[in-house]
Amino acid sequence: MKGFLIDLDGTLYRGHEPIPHAAAFIQWLQRHQMPFLLVTNNSSRTPEQVAEHLLAFGIEVPPAAIYTSSQAAAQYLTEQRGGNRVHIVGEAGLRIALAAAGFASDETTPDYVVQGIDRSFSYEKLTEAVRHVKQGATYVLTNPDRMLPSDGGLMPGAGSLAAAITAASGVEPVVIGKPSPIIMAYATERLGLPPADVWVIGDNVHTDIRGGAVSGCRTALVLTGVATADNVHEQVASAGVTPDLICSDLQHFMDQFKA
Ligand SMILES: [Mg+2]
Repeated sequence: MKGFLIDLDGTLYRGHEPIPHAAAFIQWLQRHQMPFLLVTNNSSRTPEQVAEHLLAFGIEVPPAAIYTSSQAAAQYLTEQRGGNRVHIVGEAGLRIALAAAGFASDETTPDYVVQGIDRSFSYEKLTEAVRHVKQGATYVLTNPDRMLPSDGGLMPGAGSLAAAITAASGVEPVVIGKPSPIIMAYATERLGLPPADVWVIGDNVHTDIRGGAVSGCRTALVLTGVATADNVHEQVASAGVTPDLICSDLQHFMDQFKA
């Protein structure tokens, strides 16, 4: 039995654009009853919102098949047992995941500052987050992505906001999302399989492939997002990690997997 941890943006779709063979790939997994989770560093959406977004591409999965960096952050905080008061810098997906896990917002003496992407980030939010971290709150970052693909080109991600908080506070965050082994360990645990029986599939060598490799999973890079046929050698060289398979797209992966 093999399991699969599959990236979303750049692997199953690009923003609002479908990626060829993505829907067929998910149907192939479902037909063969191969366990999989769609694992995303994006902390802004809930699993229900992600499932809804996927429907537009003909991909039908239950919310339980989706695992976000916000859910992983909530799981990490739960396991730490370091208190249940949080100061959140982020969007709905992060707020909902933390509330569902029993964490309460506290603006005076939080145990944690939990930060994800926040598209209404401001000088005031930066000041508050830094003040809490300097006063001893543990700083947790959902994902380290500095830039994100969007329909209008690249835009700053959670990692860029984190760079400001770290510069001002002098404190490095605990990173949850890919390539952190934290989210990979939780995701493989959810599949119920040892890492050696899990394939990590994604378009980003620095996050998906590195995260899979450091966790002992097998890795497949698809050239449909951040990595492309034109830049793959440069991407692999700069990340310093080599995928087990390099596939032009998910059809190519299915062909090689069957072979
Ligand atoms: Mg991606």
